[in-house]
Amino acid sequence: MNNPATRQTLAVCETYRKEIEALALSSKYPDVDVVFFKGRCGMPPAKWSTLENTRMSGLPAWLTSAEHPADELHVAVGECIAEIPAKHHIIGGQSRIRIRHCLHLLVSPDLADYYARMGYYTVTPGWLARWQEIIADWGFDAQTVKPFFRQWSTGILLLDTGVDPAATDNLKDFADYTGRPWMAVPVGTDYFELLIINAILKSRIEDDTPPDPPESNRSREELADFLMALDLLNKLVRMRSEKEVIDGIREMCIMLFAPSSVHFTGSQEAGCGERQNSRISPENGFTLTIDGGGGPIGELTIAGVAMPEHIDRYKKLAARISGICGLAIENARHYQTVKDLSDTDGLTGLANRRRLKEHLEKEWPRMARDGRPISLVMADIDHFKEYNDDYGHQAGDEVLRQVARTLQEQCHRPGDLVARYGGEEFIIVLPETDGDGAVKLAEKIRRAVCGLQIDQGDHLPSPYLTASFGVSCCVPTPGFSSDELVSRADSALYKAKHAGRNRVHRETDGGRSEDAH
Ligand code: GH3
Ligand code: MG
Ligand code: MG
Repeated sequence: MNNPATRQTLAVCETYRKEIEALALSSKYPDVDVVFFKGRCGMPPAKWSTLENTRMSGLPAWLTSAEHPADELHVAVGECIAEIPAKHHIIGGQSRIRIRHCLHLLVSPDLADYYARMGYYTVTPGWLARWQEIIADWGFDAQTVKPFFRQWSTGILLLDTGVDPAATDNLKDFADYTGRPWMAVPVGTDYFELLIINAILKSRIEDDTPPDPPESNRSREELADFLMALDLLNKLVRMRSEKEVIDGIREMCIMLFAPSSVHFTGSQEAGCGERQNSRISPENGFTLTIDGGGGPIGELTIAGVAMPEHIDRYKKLAARISGICGLAIENARHYQTVKDLSDTDGLTGLANRRRLKEHLEKEWPRMARDGRPISLVMADIDHFKEYNDDYGHQAGDEVLRQVARTLQEQCHRPGDLVARYGGEEFIIVLPETDGDGAVKLAEKIRRAVCGLQIDQGDHLPSPYLTASFGVSCCVPTPGFSSDELVSRADSALYKAKHAGRNRVHRETDGGRSEDAH
């Protein structure tokens, strides 16, 4: 046994047992004891001092008592424990800063919050392994769970650390049970490892009486590397586009190694992998393969470092950083995927209402500032309920896709946006377009929809499917909101329907209306 004063204890929520096992801490850090406690996913937080009496009884009694013998205690937790005594290190941020959510052990708080804002209910492999138990604890059954998740989430998102081969199947089962679409984002264990090891090393360095100076020196170096990596990671993972991340990596290399050049080459151009060994090292530099979860992403070539005598140390540090760089690039890619998915209507591929709102929020002040007009065209397929009744829902879906394509084909200007507003309703935003222009465009689209010649039987006024259009236009002024312009387009559409459908109706800027057909 080591001197008890040097031992450290890591108390980790049981949900992360497999991730901890994957790190093989006991071989790298034999003086760290790991204990697991049972988390309270979604339940009110429990006090640290009363853990023994709660469902989290996985903790040994001494750990929760005031005078536990462990010198350092690290706790990897989320919101499920309240009032952790200040002397304990809480992993998940810089030392001694309480993490707010256990997902922040797997991805940066920024990214986790982003997924939450997009409406995703985010889970981990360990959580999924216990989903039935947790859902039952919450008091749900097969009947009540679906409406709840339908109301509160757009989908289920798995942060896949890759430690549990059953995770994807569990995800599908859980998504099926809640009736929500699912998505898996591979995150690996790099970030988790970085946080855990950083806490272990940091407290070790802070220990006033290190038992073994050489070991401590090694730790100091390792710590310096990790701190730098953590700093870098925190900056990089906050970047939202792949280009931004790659620029960030370049800048970071310049900061660390002061090279004369840094090049990043994407994996296709770089031919990563097989030619690796035969590659000639750049002068006073090195080449580093950046790996993502699914294989190499690219290569960094660093040449002409200012102090070549440190090259071995640089290589070591670069190797340490490369996994994190890969992670940051993948994070940016996932961010984009999630953004695309959450901006897009699944059936038609058009922008959805969220994206429409975002677009209007951007264009509205621009038009107001420049004193330029903005028009809306609201379109609604005529008698579509009957079409569905006669030809079936699948055929109806295909028609929606065809009409969506037709709308999109007619709108060419960069600021134009075609969105699916509801079931068989669409809205087109036309910045810098006056009412006359918008009516002309709507008329062109109306004819194009008729021109699709979609048969709808002979019991309706037109043999082919038609649509009605409502147009509204204004130059935005203070006190007049885009919502009001939408409702004007809506009332114009209502009038087009009332006047016999298959026509364009314009609600004039002053609120008067006129039939444009
Ligand atoms: P109107 O001319 O007054 O617009 O009549 P309508 O039948 O088009 O309008 P109503 O609002 O009565 O019905 C809209 C129909 O659109 C109801 C539903 O059958 C159909 N619908 C809405 N969303 C979808 C969808 O995603 N797929 C399919 N296939 N049909 C949809
Ligand atoms: Mg309709
Ligand atoms: Mg409708």
